[in-house]
Amino acid sequence: MKNWLTIACLCAVSLSLVGNEKPATNEEITIEETNQFPQYLYKILSLRNWQATERSKTAQLSAEDDAFIHFSTQDQLERLIGKYWADAPQFVILKIDSQKLEGRLVFETNPGGTTQYYHLYDGFIPFSSIVESKIIYQQPIDTCDLQKLDIVQIGHPVLRQVARELSVEEIVSPEIQNLIEIMKATMRAAPGVGLAAPQIGKPLQLAVIEDMDHSHLNAEQLAVRDRHPIPFHVIINPRLYIEESAGDAEFFEGCLSVPEFIGIVPRAKSVRVECLNERGEPVVIQAKGWYARILQHEIDHLNGTLYIDKAQLSTLMTVENYVKLHKDKSVQEIQTVSTK
Ligand code: ZN
Repeated sequence: MKNWLTIACLCAVSLSLVGNEKPATNEEITIEETNQFPQYLYKILSLRNWQATERSKTAQLSAEDDAFIHFSTQDQLERLIGKYWADAPQFVILKIDSQKLEGRLVFETNPGGTTQYYHLYDGFIPFSSIVESKIIYQQPIDTCDLQKLDIVQIGHPVLRQVARELSVEEIVSPEIQNLIEIMKATMRAAPGVGLAAPQIGKPLQLAVIEDMDHSHLNAEQLAVRDRHPIPFHVIINPRLYIEESAGDAEFFEGCLSVPEFIGIVPRAKSVRVECLNERGEPVVIQAKGWYARILQHEIDHLNGTLYIDKAQLSTLMTVENYVKLHKDKSVQEIQTVSTK
């Protein structure tokens, strides 16, 4: 939450809301007559549509833009925000290079109105036309519906690429601080114990981890897994060092990007991770047991590797069949049966 407060303060001064309608200026009318469009137009999206936009090649829009896409000039922005976005917890202002829009741009009044707006017919907003995005936070990120964000599923190339490192400047920027909050909410809603940035479509060396709810496991299961509460934290640009002498452990593992299935994966019992935290500070993590497994799984994601690449494929099964047929068996029993 501390991070969010910082972001909110930054944004509170970035825009003031004004309710008075401004008439079209002479300059805008001249623009229409000469068929010259301003270099930059503006489009406001919900944060959810913006997240979807970042994962795709074109801006993801709401139903109001089905017939044609509404744009505003910089002068029209404040009025538009006051009228339509005053109650939105967050929204995103896009600055768009009008030359790069695909379609037919028209300067006209809305039906029944007098103010002229730019409308794009038979077209779309290519990602390459977006020259700037500014996220406006009017409420804390935790209170909106971000937890419904989609997690990228197996088959999407972003899960198979090596993610790029982040600079300290990037880490402390509002964009990355916001991404961390979104990933935290998405991981908790899934629910999961870790989420890597590629899993929400971002090829960045960043993952969030939290393993606090063990209510589905009894004391013996927790002990055999060497599983202990791990509070929420962020790993960025991690380097993984396996402590070979501790050996491997074999347990079932699943992944939010490979839904329905689990399989047995051998993982090092003890690892050291050198990384940056969410403030860009260097951190060394010594981890064993289940926490070491989570770290290995998430760091694999940042290098384009999924657990199924390392799983004993003969043990791959649906979660439903695991619960129905195997949950009381030991790993060794399942390995024996599955390889027959
Ligand atoms: Zn995963």
